[in-house]
Amino acid sequence: MSDKLLDIYRQRVLDHSRAPLNRKRMANADVEVTGHNPLCGDKLTVYLQLDGDTVSEAAFEGSGCAISIASASMLTEALKGTTRQQALDLTDAVRRMFADGTLPDDERLEALQALESVREYPSRVKCATLAWSAADGALQNRPAKVTTE
Ligand code: ZN
Repeated sequence: MSDKLLDIYRQRVLDHSRAPLNRKRMANADVEVTGHNPLCGDKLTVYLQLDGDTVSEAAFEGSGCAISIASASMLTEALKGTTRQQALDLTDAVRRMFADGTLPDDERLEALQALESVREYPSRVKCATLAWSAADGALQNRPAKVTTE
């Protein structure tokens, strides 16, 4: 990755952390999962509303470091409007991206490429994957409410 691209990605993560999208409690969520990253102290709850097989709304709340908040913000944007299977594919793609640095060529993933910049800081990867693990749990356990704690 070029330095210039890395700067753009870092800036995008910063923007999301400063002004996170969909950060709110969702009282009528169909599934919700709270994820906890004890290494950093991040604790986030991901809420999903399902309309049939489509993720109609996504939100999160909680507290955490800038990277965990930015990643949760990006997650809610990415999942909204996807089918359950597409959402699971996305959480899987992000997990693999952190493992080996590659993202499949899919336009839905373009907005998530900025998260790749977090790979520079291996100790922060768990911060970035927290919301994705929670969402993955929520999608797999529908309609049960589970916690990863
Ligand atoms: Zn963190």
